[in-house]
Amino acid sequence: MKQTHSCSVEGCGNPAARSFSQEEIAKIMPKVGLSLQSSGKKVYLCEKHYKQVKKELKKQKKLEKIRHGLPF
Ligand SMILES: [Zn+2]
Repeated sequence: MKQTHSCSVEGCGNPAARSFSQEEIAKIMPKVGLSLQSSGKKVYLCEKHYKQVKKELKKQKKLEKIRHGLPF
């Protein structure tokens, strides 16, 4: 069941290590200064780019939690 994808970051052709939903990743890309070359439903990231994105993903999730947790 192993499919080979390559990283969806523009200019990067490394083999993908992880896949994410487009929605999840699209809002993070500008923050890490990357752009995506594909517009599919799934976004594939190589190890290197995954590491960059992972930090932002964590931040994002924290922010969402805070937003949901506070009674504005
Ligand atoms: Zn990459």
